[in-house]
Amino acid sequence: MDVITAITRGGKAWTPEFVVALDAKKCIGCGRCYKVCTRNVLELVDRSDSDIPEDDDEDDSESIASVMAISDPMDCTGCGACSRVCPKNCLTHKAMAMEA
Ligand code: SF4
Ligand code: SF4
Repeated sequence: MDVITAITRGGKAWTPEFVVALDAKKCIGCGRCYKVCTRNVLELVDRSDSDIPEDDDEDDSESIASVMAISDPMDCTGCGACSRVCPKNCLTHKAMAMEA
């Protein structure tokens, strides 16, 4: 499978790794990933609107009202900035093939 590759200003090839998942159970809603993202990939949502089952909440996150969610994965450039600032390692990235 040929994955999407890019080129730096200096002419070096690199492989973007796009956001494919966000573990809302680990998210503390700090917003750091949202602040560094230059695209419209992420959005803060009410915890009650997330996919987390009520009885699956972790003890230390029960009081957190909002969690981050992936709203538009197709807008991701795969820069990786979100994961570099996330204190809980919530985001999963993957190199991907070009969509037909
Ligand atoms: S990899 Fe970059 S573009 Fe994609 S969600 Fe993270 S910060 Fe935004
Ligand atoms: S940086 Fe991590 S913990 Fe903070 S809102 Fe984003 S995904 Fe959640």
